[in-house]
Formats: sequence, structure tokens, C-alpha cells
Amino acid sequence: MVKQKSFKFDAAVFIGRFQPFHKGHVNSVRIALQNAHQLIIILGSYRMSASIRGPWLAEERIAMIQSALSQAQLKKIQFICIRDRLYNEDIWKSNIINEVEKKVGSGKSIAIIGHEKDSSSYYLRLFPNWKFMETGNYKGINATDFRMSYFLRDKIKTLYEHIPEGVIPHLKKYKRTEDYKILKAKFNAFESLKLHLKRDPEKTVCNAIIACGGYFLFVKRKEIFSQNLYSLPEATPKENESYFECVARALIEETGLHISPEKLRQYYKKEGTFDYAGRNPLEKTISHTFLFELNDVPYPKVTAGKNISQVEWVLYDDIYTNEHCFYSDFFQIIQWFLRNY
Ligand code: NAD
Repeated sequence: MVKQKSFKFDAAVFIGRFQPFHKGHVNSVRIALQNAHQLIIILGSYRMSASIRGPWLAEERIAMIQSALSQAQLKKIQFICIRDRLYNEDIWKSNIINEVEKKVGSGKSIAIIGHEKDSSSYYLRLFPNWKFMETGNYKGINATDFRMSYFLRDKIKTLYEHIPEGVIPHLKKYKRTEDYKILKAKFNAFESLKLHLKRDPEKTVCNAIIACGGYFLFVKRKEIFSQNLYSLPEATPKENESYFECVARALIEETGLHISPEKLRQYYKKEGTFDYAGRNPLEKTISHTFLFELNDVPYPKVTAGKNISQVEWVLYDDIYTNEHCFYSDFFQIIQWFLRNY
């Protein structure tokens, strides 16, 4: 009779962006499957717009992972895609716990596997009922460095040295796409702009969410990082300018909506501060966002300001079907205001 291998855990959970899946991740999968009967791979940042932090969609990332691993490994692996909840950690956590339980059943012994590489790894300790299993750092491989080389220095011989064999064709194919060209331009801008940055410790900007009869007002900026993506109207407070005056100016300058700060106070509903560290690729920028509700029918006419390519009223329902069309954390900010989760 063949003796069944006994495992320390019923299941292991491995959370990541996997942008892209590299040999360090493959090593973690190997360790997870040595210790657990099955592995749940959680792809984070699901349905976020493509950016220099995350070029590939969840579906593309799953295809890369499947090409990197053996059939024997894949038989023991299930995937879950999870949206970020940057401004509601409890929902993010419960979303993960519930989806994992759906896959593995209740009352199972579970380990969460990963490497505490820096402060951004804090989430590994958010699950007290799961035993944390540290993998250690594998050969210093860093996905951020890989992305910089892949988009900017793609002729270097060692480019793919830390990428599993099966993932390389995906990356070579992606290089021939329009999406690659669009992101390459963003990487170029990132590299040249970051050299000229005055390093303020952090900067605050004011944003406005304008609601009117079930529609919401968004802009698309000409600026490279957020091009073709929905953003909220925004301005940086001038010296001696209050946040309220600043946001009124943002509306005039970017959308042509002339509402005095006094009038705006009548439309005021709520405000919040949003400080996700990755919200601006170049410098730490905190958003102080106001929600205003207008009552005009039809909604007021708007015109694109000089740095804006398009200004658009979007129906509430369409915000949720287009979440991947929002820049940075704007969808998350809107979600916080509209449903508070
Ligand atoms: P990642 O792909 O960078 O890393 C995945 C795992 O692999 C991590 O444990 C990392 O430390 C490890 N790893 C990376 N390089 C390694 C190496 N060389 N050797 C060994 N291990 C290595 O992914 P990530 O950024 O850590 O992913 C976290 C995901 O969870 C993101 O999508 C993030 O947005 C999401 N998240 C969301 C919230 C929220 O919405 N509230 C909170 C926390 C995290």
C-alpha cells in the first residue's frame, strides 16, 4: 500500500501581485506544497488599471503562473482574484478569508506563506488564525527591478535570468502589443521625471467628487501617467488658500464648473483623506477629497481645462463596470464615499 504523505497544513495561502511571476515566487510555491496539501494563490490588485506597478491583468498573470509550474503542482493549486480595498482593510481581509474558506472548507489548518521584504509586507500578519510561514528572500530577486529593465533596458543579456522559462514567451509576446508601448512611455517619463523631483516629504492635493442626478463628474488628464483614465478634478492648495477654496478652483480650472466656495458649502456632503503610498508614482501625495451633491437637472455643462483631454458625466452604474478605467486609487476613493466599503 502507498503511504499517503502527511502535511503540516491542510492548505497554504500565497498572496501577491506577481508582476510578473518570478523564480522567487516559484520557490515559495515549492515550499508551500512541501508543507500543505493544497495551495491557494491569491492575485491581488484585481481589476486595477495597468500601471508601472502592475502592467498585467489578473488573467494574464494566471496564464504566466500556469506556464511556470508543473502539472503536478497545478493539480494542487487554485486561484482567487481579489480587489484591493485600500481604504477598508477589514473588507479586504474578510474577502480573502471567506473566499479561501469557500475553496478549502471550514475548520482547516491554514498557513499564509510569503516573505516580509519591507513595510509593504505588513498584510502577512493580518490573519491571526493562519500560521505565518516565512520563505526567506530568494536570490534578492525584485519584480520592480525586472519591470524597469523590461520596459527600459530590454536589450540586456540577463533580462530574463530570474524569470521562469515558461513565463518568458508571455513577456516576449506582450512586448509586441500596444499596451506595452503605452506603458513604456510611462516608464520613460517615470525615469526622467524622478531625477528632477524636489523631494518634498509629502504633498497634499484637493479632489472633488461631484454627484448630480445619479451622474458623477470625472476628467481624463493629458499628463502621461493618467492618460485615458478617469481621475477626479484636482488642484494643489496655494499658500493661504483653504482646501475648500482650492477644490472650488480645481472645478473651475479642470471642468469649467464655476461654483463659489460659499455655494459649494451648500452642496457639501462629506470629506476624507486618502494616503495610499503608491497613489502617485513620483512622490508621496495625500488626497483630501470632498463629496458634493448638486441638484441641477439636466446636469451643468462642463468644458475641459487646459491640462484635461476630456471631462465627462458618468452614470453611477457605469462607474462599477468601468473600475479598471480609473487612475490610481480614484475608484477606491469613490467606493469609500458611496458605500463606505
Ligand atoms: P509581490 O508579487 O511583490 O510578492 C508576493 C510575495 O512574494 C510576497 O510575500 C513577497 O515578499 C514575496 N517575494 C517577492 N520577491 C521575493 C523573493 N525574491 N524571494 C522570496 N519571496 C519574494 O506581491 P505584493 O505586492 O506583496 O502583493 C500583495 C497584494 O495584496 C497586492 O496586490 C496588494 O495591493 C494587496 N493588498 C491589498 C490590501 C488592501 O487592499 N487593503 C492590503 C494589503 C495588500
